[in-house]
Amino acid sequence: YTGKTGGQLFNERMKKLTVKEFQSIPVVVNESASVYDAICTMFLEDVGTLFVVNKQAHLVGILSRKDLLRASMGKQDLESVPISIIMTRMPNVTTCSPSDSMLEVANKLITKQIDGLPVVKEVEENGAVYHEVIGRLTKTNITKAFVYLANDDMHK
Ligand code: ADP
Repeated sequence: YTGKTGGQLFNERMKKLTVKEFQSIPVVVNESASVYDAICTMFLEDVGTLFVVNKQAHLVGILSRKDLLRASMGKQDLESVPISIIMTRMPNVTTCSPSDSMLEVANKLITKQIDGLPVVKEVEENGAVYHEVIGRLTKTNITKAFVYLANDDMHK
């Protein structure tokens, strides 16, 4: 008998849950896409957040539903407005890595007041560090981890 309470055991199991076990497939758009294209992609792919990449597939920004709604309120032609002018840009994008704990990510979502973040791999090229998008971690994944903890037999 370890002398640990149920609460302590739950806490330990919770801290062991990692991003790579729960992450979803990322949906990316090229930085040259228009606001119109991004809205279509968001509907077709059924996601709430799009990750923006450049030609080299490096993460350059992020777009939320409200970013696209805000951009649609004016009278501009949405096909002529590039997403690069409305997105939240690197280095202001909060990211996580596959080995991060779900608890760490949950804290980031709360403190930054965001719905999700890209799971990235840091790549070094000619001395500069870039972020390659390899996954997506949202509040839905946190909810799934929460349910998984309560039912060990359930699927992730
Ligand atoms: P919404 O804007 O639809 O409520 P969010 O709460 O996720 O969705 O986004 C709020 C703002 O924060 C948006 O302007 C968005 O571009 C930005 N944002 C979303 N996710 C991130 C992130 N991982 N890192 C930095 N900024 C983000």
